[in-house]
Amino acid sequence: MRVTVTGAGIIGLSSAYRLAEAGHDVTVVAAAPPPESTSAVAGGVVYPPIRVPDERIVRWTAASLAVFRAQDAPGVRFRRGRVLGDPDPWWLPAVEDPARAGDGVAFTTAVVDPPVYLDWLLARVGELGVRLEYRSLTSLSGLSADVVVNAAGLGAGALAGDPGMVPVGGQVVHVTDPGLPEFVVDGRGPGVTYVIPHGRHVVCGGTEEPGRGDTDPNPAVAADILRRCRELEPRLADARVLRSRVGLRPFRRAVRLERVGDVVHCYGHGGAGITLAWGCAADVAALVDQPGGVLA
Ligand SMILES: Cc1cc2nc3c(=O)[nH]c(=O)nc-3n(C[C@H](O)[C@H](O)[C@H](O)COP(=O)(O)OP(=O)(O)OC[C@H]3O[C@@H](n4cnc5c(N)ncnc54)[C@H](O)[C@@H]3O)c2cc1C
Repeated sequence: MRVTVTGAGIIGLSSAYRLAEAGHDVTVVAAAPPPESTSAVAGGVVYPPIRVPDERIVRWTAASLAVFRAQDAPGVRFRRGRVLGDPDPWWLPAVEDPARAGDGVAFTTAVVDPPVYLDWLLARVGELGVRLEYRSLTSLSGLSADVVVNAAGLGAGALAGDPGMVPVGGQVVHVTDPGLPEFVVDGRGPGVTYVIPHGRHVVCGGTEEPGRGDTDPNPAVAADILRRCRELEPRLADARVLRSRVGLRPFRRAVRLERVGDVVHCYGHGGAGITLAWGCAADVAALVDQPGGVLA
C-alpha cells in the first residue's frame, strides 16, 4: 500500500520505519527536518510523566523499551535513575527493576540522546526506501496515498480539525557532563527539576508552560533551571553551560491513536513521545493493515 506519514519527529519516523519494514511504500511529508522538531529537544528518559492512569501507556512504554533494547542504537544507553515525588506511580510495571527510593522510585530504563538517535533513525528509514519531502501541509486530503498517518505533533491537531491540542513549552539547558552515573527527575517542588546525563552533555530542566508559542530561550529561566539542577545534583557546580533549548510539547488530554476512514491519527504525546514512540508505531502499522480500524 502507498502510505504517507505526516511529520518527521520521533512519532512520524518510528511509524514510517514500521510501515516500510512491513512492505508498504512510504513517503514522509514534514514541514521541517528532524533536528528542528520538538523530539530533538526532549530530555530523552523513557518513562511516562503522565498523571492519569492509562493501560495503553504501560503497554506502549514497555514495547518501546523492548525495541530500544533490541536496537542497541547510537544515542541510547540503559541507565538507572530516580523519579521523586510519588513512591508508587501507576506506570511502574512498564520499566525495568523498579524499587522504592525514599519518596520516589528507582528503576532502569533507556535514556535517549534525541539528536543522535533521530539521525540514526532517519538513516534507517532511508535504507528501507522511505522518501522524505519537506513541505508544510494545510490539509490531509489530496495526498496521493491509500492511507495517511497523521503524526505531525503539534501540527496534527490542525490537520485533524481537533481543537484539543495545546502546546506546553519546555526549556532546557545543556551543560558538560562530569560523568554522572544516573538521571534524576524531582517532582516534589512546584515545578519539575531534572538532570539527564548523556555522556557528552547533561540535559537540565525544566519548565512546563501551557500555551507557549515561541521557542526562544529565556536567560532568566535558564539561570533558574541551573540553580535548581545544581541544588539537586551538586556535581554540576562547575559544569560549563553549552546551550539552551525550548520545545513545544504536543499536549492532548489523551494520546489519539485511531483510524478514521483512510487516516490513522497518532498524536498528542505531550511529554512522553520518546517513551511511547515504538509502542505506538506498532499500533499504527496494525491499523494501516486493518481497514476497520479496530485493533485485535
Ligand atoms: C523540554 C522537553 C523535554 C522532554 N523530555 C522528554 C522525555 O524525557 N521523554 C519523553 O518521552 N518525551 C519527552 N518530551 C516530549 C517529546 O519531545 C514529545 O512528546 C515528542 O517529541 C513528540 O513527537 P512528535 O513526533 O509527535 O512531534 P514533533 O517532534 O514535534 O514532530 C512533529 C513533526 O511534524 C511536522 N509538522 C508539523 N506540522 C506540520 C504540517 N502542517 N505539515 C507537515 N509537517 C508538519 C514537524 O515539522 C515535525 O517534523 C520532552 C519535550 C520537551 C519540550
